Amino acid sequence: MNPIMEIIKARDPGEKEFHQAVEEVLESVQPVLDRNPQHRQEAVLERIVEPERIIIFRVPWTDDQGQVQVNRGFRIQMNSAIGPYKGGLRFHPSVNLSILKFLAFEQVFKNALTTLAMGGGKGGSDFDPKGKSDNEVMRFCQSFMSELFRHIGPNMDVPAGDIGVGAREIGYLFGMYKKLRNEFTGVLTGKSLGWGGSLIRPEATGYGSVYFAAEMLATKNETLEGKACLVSGSGNVSQYTVEKIIKLGGKVVTLSDSSGYIYDEKGIDSDKLDFVKRLKNIKRGRIYEYTDKYSEAVYTEADTSLDHNPLWDHKADCAFPSATENEINEKDGMNLMKNGVKLVCEGANMPSVPEAINIFLDNKILYAPGKASNAGGVAVSGLEMAQNSMRLNWPAEEVDQRLKMIMKNIHQTCLDAATEYGKPGNYIAGANIAGFTKVVNAMLDQGII
Ligand code: NAP
Repeated sequence: MNPIMEIIKARDPGEKEFHQAVEEVLESVQPVLDRNPQHRQEAVLERIVEPERIIIFRVPWTDDQGQVQVNRGFRIQMNSAIGPYKGGLRFHPSVNLSILKFLAFEQVFKNALTTLAMGGGKGGSDFDPKGKSDNEVMRFCQSFMSELFRHIGPNMDVPAGDIGVGAREIGYLFGMYKKLRNEFTGVLTGKSLGWGGSLIRPEATGYGSVYFAAEMLATKNETLEGKACLVSGSGNVSQYTVEKIIKLGGKVVTLSDSSGYIYDEKGIDSDKLDFVKRLKNIKRGRIYEYTDKYSEAVYTEADTSLDHNPLWDHKADCAFPSATENEINEKDGMNLMKNGVKLVCEGANMPSVPEAINIFLDNKILYAPGKASNAGGVAVSGLEMAQNSMRLNWPAEEVDQRLKMIMKNIHQTCLDAATEYGKPGNYIAGANIAGFTKVVNAMLDQGII
């Protein structure tokens, strides 16, 4: 084991998601360290794996029955070498320090790949917005911000959404920040259009992921036209992934939530996608309701006793895991390969376990790690910050063009770095090396701080 891994595991035992994310990066960047032996004395690894700051706080709020509830709030300010901390807030019962540290660590390299001036951070709470009334969500968000506001700012740390944090939550969080600071600034991204949001921000992660997939396919002289695609999740990233796949001529046959998944052999067309958007964003319902409306689709309930997820066990050409971390295990990776999948493009963060990634690489499946392929969301967040600073709004076509160009550049950067370090076509090595090199060089320029 890398000695740094030993230190991390001894210092923070039990943070398995964080260990997994660090191990993947350390493995990829070994050739950079071999070329730069001085990095040992500079302790760049020890510095880059240690968050600059972690804030943990109590979030008390009152539910609709008058009962006081207490959740835990977090903000991980991981690295500010190339810009203010930037990264989403996640509200989900599974949230803990390990998950947020892994997400913050990934975010550092992802943000570096976008070429925009953004450091890396992540935050959130173990609060579950599911089943809560709008008023309960508002009271929770106000309490959460009544502590977080001390630690963020447009030039310091600019949070955004993630799982469980969409336009509604960003609105409540922004309102409370504005009240406490008495200023209207671009302190959060993912804002609604009428008060500082950017066109294409909601679409950006999903669209960006599909643009990245299209770039990968283009290296093989192929397109998404006619390709059968498996998509997991049914939230923000999944919805706009499906939208862009349809636009580019592909056929999406699955969607899921944490209760189960639907398989629609005929394909999810624009009308069906509109139904899913209403179901998930307005009604806040469950994905099985899709089969109430479209009886040709089949719903399969999630079964945790299985050693695999049947969603990944259908014949298809491409897979877009877009729900959550570690949703593709080794058996799922094997099933994808056996079913003829030729491309795996991650919309979610770290959805594939290392064993599954090895199957993709060994079988020459085009594989895009989330830190490259889902960077479109944070990239357009960066563009939202730029528009807020200038007090301007760019038209949708302009933002979309910039997004497309950024994804094209990230794709090329990954390929170039992989080739330079003797791993042609390996996007994971390329993404890690390119992101790491940029951040480390900035850290070294700024001294030992
Ligand atoms: P979202 O709108 O809240 O949707 C999340 C989806 O994933 C929901 O369908 C949810 O189902 C499902 N899901 C969540 N946790 C799950 C679990 N433990 N098991 C099975 N399904 C689960 O969130 P999102 O913004 O689309 O984020 C999805 C992924 O993309 C995350 O990994 C996130 O970190 C990553 N990402 C998001 C952005 C962005 O701009 N939003 C940018 C980059 C990366 P339920 O409703 O049943 O929970």
